[in-house]
Amino acid sequence: MTILSVENVSKSFPTAGEPLDVLRDVSLELAGGQSMAIVGPSGSGKSTLLQILGTLDRPDDGSVKLDGEDPFVLDDTQLAHWRNQRVGFIFQDHHLLPQLSVIENVLVPSLAVGRASADHIARATELLQAVGLSQRTGHLPSELSGGERERVAIARALLMRPALVLADEPTGNLDRRTAESVTAVLQTLQKENDAILICVTHSGALAAAMDQRQELVDGRLVAG
Ligand code: ADP
Ligand code: MG
Repeated sequence: MTILSVENVSKSFPTAGEPLDVLRDVSLELAGGQSMAIVGPSGSGKSTLLQILGTLDRPDDGSVKLDGEDPFVLDDTQLAHWRNQRVGFIFQDHHLLPQLSVIENVLVPSLAVGRASADHIARATELLQAVGLSQRTGHLPSELSGGERERVAIARALLMRPALVLADEPTGNLDRRTAESVTAVLQTLQKENDAILICVTHSGALAAAMDQRQELVDGRLVAG
């Protein structure tokens, strides 16, 4: 089973004055199939933590390991490949490519390893069915509602069967009912795929749907 193990991660950013300590000794451990919500006020370091867990940024101190492997020892090319295979990202503003159709957007992660294979296309089709968009695969993102776009982003994040799925405010722009259905889809797919899911959120409902809740307070994770 997959294990994510985060030990004493610290991160600060330089400023004109004292450095800004955003994360201090953040530790957590999650296994495949488990989910965690991370809450905290704006500016508390939630996105910074998610970026480090997804290897888009590096910790100043501490370690992040997936199945005992430290991705930060890899060179940039290896790290990009590792991230593509192991991590799925879901952002608040979905980051879909406007000129690509729904299914092409879902297939984007497969392009990093060459052309989309028949397996990738089958997987994308299956995921679009799972998120309730099988009738919309040829549409452009501009032809979809906010909730539908977020569902496409969820399908895209899961295409490569990542062990770790990271979501930054996935329901932040959605009305309550749409947010509930997007949360349900995300949770179902995460459990089916036995992935680890970490959700940064302001939504009490989304946080309540996760197995565990933690809050970032002064750069430290405390039970929420
Ligand atoms: P949150 O997602 O909880 O709103 P962030 O992780 O985005 O918080 O930011 C935490 C703090 O770190 C903020 O004060 C922000 O301005 C600062 N910060 C984030 N990224 C950088 C950066 N690349 N350089 C300097 N400061 C940053
Ligand atoms: Mg943020």
